[in-house]
Amino acid sequence: MIEIENVRKSFGSLEVLKGINLTVPKGEVLTIIGGSGSGKSTLLTCINGLEAIDSGRIVVDGTDVHAKATDLNKLRRKLGIVFQQWNAFPHLTVLENVMLAPRKVLGLPKAEAEAIAVKQLTHVGLGEKLKVYPNRMSGGQQQRMAIARALAMSPEYMLFDEVTSALDPQLVGEVLDTLRMLASEGMTMICVTHEMKFAREVSDRVAFFHKGVMAEIAPPEELFGAPKDPELQAFLAATH
Ligand code: ATP
Ligand code: MG
Repeated sequence: MIEIENVRKSFGSLEVLKGINLTVPKGEVLTIIGGSGSGKSTLLTCINGLEAIDSGRIVVDGTDVHAKATDLNKLRRKLGIVFQQWNAFPHLTVLENVMLAPRKVLGLPKAEAEAIAVKQLTHVGLGEKLKVYPNRMSGGQQQRMAIARALAMSPEYMLFDEVTSALDPQLVGEVLDTLRMLASEGMTMICVTHEMKFAREVSDRVAFFHKGVMAEIAPPEELFGAPKDPELQAFLAATH
């Protein structure tokens, strides 16, 4: 379970998160929507401890992410994160790229790391691309490689930050299909996305962020079907 309690975060004089409260239970698929600069990415980077917070608490399975004593490396193994773009190592094959973290971070023997990488790459539909170099793959394939790389650490939670935003429209579907598959397998996921149709289909709940505030959170049929917050109404009208 991820518990976010009254989290505040500023960059200089700009308050980016203005007291966020949110609990994500195991197995939930939560999507976060909202305008540019509303704090969506910042929240994800705070959850996995890449960013400090000014006040409040984020607790993952009982561990306070920002407590001094917390072993962030250990915690981050639980929290896979995939961004808009990931720069794979160009001189390593797809398989070698995905093996890297299990080898270096988990310290697994080569054969074991390779078995995990093959399994996860196959899982995301890249079983035929093991020996290929990343720059020979499409953007959609590269994003699926990034997902396989995160999955190779056996995370319990996956955080996705607009993983389809940098893709050509025809490549978006295959990446969303991969996310749908993970959701159907019961992975706990927080997905920041601009894909409203996807959010509607896959989410247990959808959260709308506006200027550092979580202005509304509800199951998708309610949030999209009967939005209450005026800013959300305007946002949805503009994105349709
Ligand atoms: P987008 O949809 O454009 O990705 P977002 O909701 O993810 O937007 P954030 O990236 O969380 O927004 O940024 C929130 C605000 O914080 C923005 O005004 C941004 O410029 C600012 N910000 C983010 N990271 C930093 C940083 N490292 N230093 C200073 N300001 C930052
Ligand atoms: Mg962002």
